[in-house]
Amino acid sequence: MFPAMSLFDHVNLVYGAISEFCTATSCPDMTGPGQRTYLWFDEKGKKTKVAAPQYIDYVMTFIQKTISDETIFPTKYANEFPVSFESIVRKIVRLLYHVVAHLYAAHFKEVLLLGLHSHLNLTFAHLMALHHRFTLIDPKETDILEDLEMALGLNQEAVEAANNNEERDRSEDSRSQSTEDTCGDNKS
Ligand SMILES: [Zn+2]
Repeated sequence: MFPAMSLFDHVNLVYGAISEFCTATSCPDMTGPGQRTYLWFDEKGKKTKVAAPQYIDYVMTFIQKTISDETIFPTKYANEFPVSFESIVRKIVRLLYHVVAHLYAAHFKEVLLLGLHSHLNLTFAHLMALHHRFTLIDPKETDILEDLEMALGLNQEAVEAANNNEERDRSEDSRSQSTEDTCGDNKS
């Protein structure tokens, strides 16, 4: 099965479980972490501001329609993938990423209450693995969840870079401590 499809199922499952908390009143904007708001692009490419549940409904409807379209996701041997396949997959992954971003930014409390956080983290890991393998999402978009990615240990390069920095900091610390070793205010 194509990985984007199972990703869709997982995002759908977590969102479905908390959807009663995501209303036009609680979420008038489609927010992500760090004050980010996503605008919906309609079929003519026109941007519109919609409430989060509406945005997510558009996302899920679009994906459902797309993955069941035989001309885009052929299931029969004789049918070939269309030329636009890659850009469609890119779009699906980017939209799912927005939903996951909204779940973390606006509904993590409910996700935790329902005990779905490990499921969400796993879905996020799955999404990021797909992204890192095929560079599907614009880095301008993924920076907002980088901290989380690091915390979950998903971006090995970033984690290593952070560890190296830490080690460098530590050795600088110990150097500065040895020159003024009586202050004893190491709060870390
Ligand atoms: Zn919401």
